[in-house]
Amino acid sequence: MIRFLDLKLVNQRYYDVFKKSFDNFLNNGHYILGEQVIGFEKEFAAYCGTKHCIGVSNGLDALELIFEAYKTLGVLKVNDEVIVPANTYIASVLSISNSGLRPVLVEPNINTFNIDPSLIEKAITSKTKAILGVHLYGRLYDVEQLEKIAINNNLVLIEDAAQAHGAATIDGRKAGNVSNAAAFSFYPTKNLGALADAGAVTTNDKALADVIFKMRHYGRASSYENDIKGRNCRLDEIQAAFLRIKLKHLKTDNIRRQGIARTYFELTKNEKIILPHCKILSQHVFHLFVIRSNKRDLLREYLYKNGVESIVHYPIPIHHQKAYQEFGSLKLPITEQIHNEVLSVPLNTGLNSEQVLKIVKLINSF
Ligand SMILES: *Cc1c(COP(=O)(O)O)cnc(C)c1O
Repeated sequence: MIRFLDLKLVNQRYYDVFKKSFDNFLNNGHYILGEQVIGFEKEFAAYCGTKHCIGVSNGLDALELIFEAYKTLGVLKVNDEVIVPANTYIASVLSISNSGLRPVLVEPNINTFNIDPSLIEKAITSKTKAILGVHLYGRLYDVEQLEKIAINNNLVLIEDAAQAHGAATIDGRKAGNVSNAAAFSFYPTKNLGALADAGAVTTNDKALADVIFKMRHYGRASSYENDIKGRNCRLDEIQAAFLRIKLKHLKTDNIRRQGIARTYFELTKNEKIILPHCKILSQHVFHLFVIRSNKRDLLREYLYKNGVESIVHYPIPIHHQKAYQEFGSLKLPITEQIHNEVLSVPLNTGLNSEQVLKIVKLINSF
């Protein structure tokens, strides 16, 4: 069976360095916010090209810290509206409602799976104060258009970059550096994955970074001085150590992912299957390779019977979730079509070329 993702396989090549780094951690005796977190923050900021990086507990906390910090700074306030793509992973939307703000779900473009810029302006009201763009499946959203809309309408632009570590515009600006503030997740399955929960915020805004540095750590300005009512959302020291090791390989990992994607693009030939649209490979780091078919469930079964595991990202749209009954009457046909038709086939650094070719052959014979 070709598993959808075998994390053991993905991490195996780091075992020796991980063990050495864990030994150092034990011997060092500094378990919280030590040199590994500081080192990772510096290196990840440099990787993204931003002035600041704040290591935090996970991706959802990263998003919530951004919203809470903007509230602390007086930029956002309770009940402000935040535009977000309707087909994103639920965590994007949770971060908005958990912060006392109102998510406004906007339809994606069926080809890019990302928010449709032409529909954003229609959704803007006098209460709209921010856009939460999501680089879904690893593909950058339309950076130019979203920046333009945000500037023209005086909105804060925030990135959910949880699936897009390393994706870059043609002029080389990376995910994490194409908005006012970005949230990353290092959940183990992501392109840069820790061995537990972890996350980060990147930004060029010093005032925002200062608030988030305090807020992740009880609001502390120094040992016993607390400037704001904070939380405990610290990045684990040992996870930071693991992430520093894996960050060195992120570029080659993403190139490997793009190489597998290229094989899928070049060799898949089946009228029942629609491949993801991607003209410029560097803009997409293929966290997931998501194909569409109106026979999706049959295809999934066919692949499984023949030894290939695939997954649906995501089977139930947010407006049909019990948790968001308030959106239950929304009509979002493109989002619904996407949820009915998408299938993610294996694409990760644990796969070999032989396995990729087997998957292609199976897709073609469906
Ligand atoms: C994974 C993910 C998150 C949440 O990250 P966690 O670290 O799991 O909290 C948020 N948004 C998107 C798009 C994600 O894929």
